[in-house]
Amino acid sequence: MWGGRVGALLRVRRLQPAGVSGRTLLSCNAVSQAGSSSPRCWNCGGSGGAGREDGFFCPRCRALQPPDPTRDYFSLMDCNRSFRVDTTKLQHRFQQLQRLVHPDFFSQRSKTEKDFSEEHSTLVNDAYKTLLAPLNRGLYLLKLHGIEIPEGTDHEIDRQFLTEIMEFNERLAEAQSKDAVEEIESTVRARQKELIDSASQAFEQDDFEKAKEILTKMRYFSNVEAKIKLKKTPL
Ligand SMILES: [Zn+2]
Repeated sequence: MWGGRVGALLRVRRLQPAGVSGRTLLSCNAVSQAGSSSPRCWNCGGSGGAGREDGFFCPRCRALQPPDPTRDYFSLMDCNRSFRVDTTKLQHRFQQLQRLVHPDFFSQRSKTEKDFSEEHSTLVNDAYKTLLAPLNRGLYLLKLHGIEIPEGTDHEIDRQFLTEIMEFNERLAEAQSKDAVEEIESTVRARQKELIDSASQAFEQDDFEKAKEILTKMRYFSNVEAKIKLKKTPL
């Protein structure tokens, strides 16, 4: 599953000084934020800094450190802050982090470390889920740029689109067979793919207003997808 390219990337990364990995590609802002927060180790009082392996463990006493609140999901998951994400690499990083911070590995450690491992684990799960799904990834990326889309943002969406969604919902409600549901599903999937491609373009051009509009549409389709899933689930 781990392609040669991913393996090569990881080998290269291991050669870099600890703490630097993956951050070179981030914006300067994120780097300076992450770099400025290297508090002393809660356990031995040793200073963090460049010697801290990816910020998780104290290089002196090896105690697990608390999560870095200034670190965003992209940095945590070692991804560029971009809508385009290499999902194989993301999955690999998720597994790597799970092996580092999973609470099972801390059952014999102090209460503090157990608590930190729980916090890290939750954060890693949330980061992975958020960056894996295009809609959530896009919404998160917009949030990092200070833009949020409240639920029920109807007024900015064109009528034609809303009619399309309404028709999908009606067709779904009327669908009597598995084939009929699957036909709707494949059409919706194709529409989502088109929207994902458009969102990619909008983010690449830093056109956040456009991205916002596209993600709002993706959210409508995501609701239709949830209904499809429900309909396919045997009672
Ligand atoms: Zn320490």
